Amino acid sequence: MSEADRGARVRELTHFIGGGTVAGKSGRFGDVFNPALGCLAARVPLAGADEVGAAVAAAKAAFPQWSETAPIKRARVMFKFKQLLDEHHDELAELITKEHGKVFSDAQGEVMRGIEIVEFACGIPNLLKTDFTDQIGGGIDNWNLRQPLGVVAGITPFNFPMMVPCWMFPIAIACGNTFVLKPSERDPSASIRLAELLKEAGLPGGVFNVVHGDKAAVDALLEHPDVEALSFVGSTPIAHYIHTEGTKHGKRVQALGGAKNHLVVMPDADLDQAVDALIGAAYGSAGERCMAISVAVAVGHIADELVDKLTPRVKALKIKNGMEADAEMGPLVTAAHRAKVSGYIDAGVDAGAKLVVDGRGHEVPGHEQGFFLGGTLFDDVKTDMTIYREEIFGPVLCVVRVPDFASAVELINANEFANGVSCYTTDGGIARAFSRQIQIGMVGINVPIPVPMAWHSFGGWKKSLFGDHHAYGEEGVRFYTRYKSIMQRWPDSIAKGAEFTMPVAK
Ligand code: NAD
Repeated sequence: MSEADRGARVRELTHFIGGGTVAGKSGRFGDVFNPALGCLAARVPLAGADEVGAAVAAAKAAFPQWSETAPIKRARVMFKFKQLLDEHHDELAELITKEHGKVFSDAQGEVMRGIEIVEFACGIPNLLKTDFTDQIGGGIDNWNLRQPLGVVAGITPFNFPMMVPCWMFPIAIACGNTFVLKPSERDPSASIRLAELLKEAGLPGGVFNVVHGDKAAVDALLEHPDVEALSFVGSTPIAHYIHTEGTKHGKRVQALGGAKNHLVVMPDADLDQAVDALIGAAYGSAGERCMAISVAVAVGHIADELVDKLTPRVKALKIKNGMEADAEMGPLVTAAHRAKVSGYIDAGVDAGAKLVVDGRGHEVPGHEQGFFLGGTLFDDVKTDMTIYREEIFGPVLCVVRVPDFASAVELINANEFANGVSCYTTDGGIARAFSRQIQIGMVGINVPIPVPMAWHSFGGWKKSLFGDHHAYGEEGVRFYTRYKSIMQRWPDSIAKGAEFTMPVAK
């Protein structure tokens, strides 16, 4: 490994405001690592209120012209942007792998899921079409408009540095809003590349801005009077904070939080398919997905066989630098996050859960400084244990044993998180009952990670989402527009004299 690879020359990243890159002014910086190498990759400026104010001002200045631009012309920018994303697909995936750590093929998948939202946003002229009723009464028509809000902001987590921002800004700007993105400070480079590609696609300066930062930048967005709406994706405590503070400041807020996703394995399930699903969904992206499966619910007699089949697979995971072709799992995002996940494993052992595979202390030859952790498997996990109650966000799968289907549903419905869930079964009646009874936002039947497609909408229930709107799809269009009803008549259909009764159709 060369010294350059080890980060001997550390890049200093910039904000993107008003159509161009802008150096940080606050004097504060955050460290961005290459997690596979365990070295510093870049320094990211952490904005203060002034820099956030500059980005909001640029977005505000761009709003009048952009919101008056015909939707078909806004869509053309999206079409061009989509083409550029296709051309730069692998470059974006590499940026993601080198700052997040996920394996390259997984990063390619992330880029594709982001592109799909851009494809959806290309249909904005049709999505903004509304209803018209001719002749609601004598000579009166009634119709609706969906108008953009103004300056809207997005605050995003580290685990999908491209896909999650794409849940927000393509739809927001296609609707005619202008946007300020505050990406995760752990892997911020993809967002700057997106801003550059949007500019190349013809987006006017100021319509899309990126300010890097931490709590100070987020608080400046929450308090800024010119920010009309906030979309947030991240952990539950911060999602709750964003929703409380944002709504207190009179903003429209959607705040998606953390998760504890269960996969139920029914006794009638195809066990090999269920094991494949669990291995991919628990250990893919090192468990750092909000839709990762972190709990396997073994129903009835299959529990022993399930654990027996999982164990060698967890031990055999190919854990490597994500840029290596056959890697299945990369490192965790930072050393601090790895320490946190290891701490959860310690807590599981202390609480009496059965540690079947221990990933602590895992080393990858040639990458001794990398933030790697091995796949970990616990059996006999009980619902009062910390490893069951809290989101671990690492490559740790907990097996909980329950006697029957009703207990599985009861267990899951009692959990405070309600993002995703899956049920493996070959019984159509069970599948239908599960889909209807489970109190979770996104359900998979024999599908481990049921992330809705771009034209559906993404969102959990309970502590996995604060606010009324799910992300992207038509819910996204509703969130980023204000609904207006217009009623109109002309003098030839107006009767003489004042009307004092509640108007009704005549
Ligand atoms: P995080 O909550 O630590 O950070 C998310 C964003 O909030 C970042 O931009 C960060 O800078 C900002 N932030 C952090 N602390 C803050 C504070 N005290 N005040 C204001 N802003 C603050 O989350 P993360 O570690 O980046 O991402 C992982 C979490 O995101 C997990 O909990 C995961 O489940 C969740 N997530 C949820 C979804 C979903 O759709 N529900 C999707 C992806 C990730």
